[in-house]
Amino acid sequence: MSKIFVGYTVKIAEIHIYQHDLPVVGPAYKMSLSQVTKLDTTIVEVVTNTGISGFGETCPVGPTYQPAHAAGARAAIAEIAPHLIGLEPLTIGTVQRRMHQALAGHNYAKAALDIALWDIAGKVHGMRVCDLLGGAARERVQSYYAVGIDEPDEVARVVRDKQGEGFVRLQIKVGGRNVAQDIEVVRKVFEVRDPAVSITLDANRAWTTRDAIQLSMACSDLDFVMEQPCATYDEVKSIKSLVRHPIYLDENTVDLNMIMRSIYDGVADGFSMKTTRVGGLTNMRTIREICQATNRPLSCDDSWGGDIIAAACLHIGATVPPNLSEGVWIADPYIEGNYDPENGIRLKDGWLDVPKGPGLGIVPDKSLWSTPQSFA
Ligand SMILES: [Mg+2]
Repeated sequence: MSKIFVGYTVKIAEIHIYQHDLPVVGPAYKMSLSQVTKLDTTIVEVVTNTGISGFGETCPVGPTYQPAHAAGARAAIAEIAPHLIGLEPLTIGTVQRRMHQALAGHNYAKAALDIALWDIAGKVHGMRVCDLLGGAARERVQSYYAVGIDEPDEVARVVRDKQGEGFVRLQIKVGGRNVAQDIEVVRKVFEVRDPAVSITLDANRAWTTRDAIQLSMACSDLDFVMEQPCATYDEVKSIKSLVRHPIYLDENTVDLNMIMRSIYDGVADGFSMKTTRVGGLTNMRTIREICQATNRPLSCDDSWGGDIIAAACLHIGATVPPNLSEGVWIADPYIEGNYDPENGIRLKDGWLDVPKGPGLGIVPDKSLWSTPQSFA
């Protein structure tokens, strides 16, 4: 396929920004500091002069999970888009520099454009994004299930169900209540937990340092990871030598500097990475290399979103060496509908198959989305 374009310059001709509401299946999804009933997602389509288009997506899980919101993503992409028309999408570094010249920060918005560039590159070369990113280490990647805040018996029931379905890793949401209730939940979970299933407690920044230390001491006989226990990096750093459990960072890892600092401070034992928070697949590739060099496990996730962001996370997740992979989290079990009825990303028994088609391998039905805001 790449031969078609030898001697022919691929250029960005149009950019379209779509809005789409993804309904949450069943009751609201509860985290320590917020809950959601539907997701406002943003999809970008970057059209080239060859007719090949690339798609990207960014979907903050509500406006309070981190400093990102859906309307902000669309405003930021609209600010950047006119500066990218006429550029060569295959020179991703050049396009990245132009994005940073057009707008400071807003990585979560730039991520959608970055993902679309990788989709274009794959389609132009007739290669999958995972192969362009260095090659898939596996064709099936484990996912993990996040169990929302609930009563101990209900959390234990979901844990039993999900390990029965085939999940090999479960994340239990904690925080936002008396820590004694969290301790009760953890004890109940470990009564039913299959030892082959790994457990992560995700406080989503909600614990005080006191809560995190108390829970870790009270449960020192149980093997779990504590994810993003406290709000700030300094708080997490201050408890590191006082807790008995490994710590993964999530919300605090906003850029490559924070990732390197948290490793060299000895604070982060691993990472729950969000592709859009760090600006897309280009930076996720670098983070994978840093984690490989320092033996830190990582998961390749995003906050939420549909088939396009799920495919992006799965492509980079497939390139992580299996011994360091904490899997790929996607919103599929919690939302309704795929953009691509045939190749859409779906969980099968807790595992995900890497798409086979070129680029991200997703052929979306654009009629599902709003009339776009367009730039040419
Ligand atoms: Mg998390």
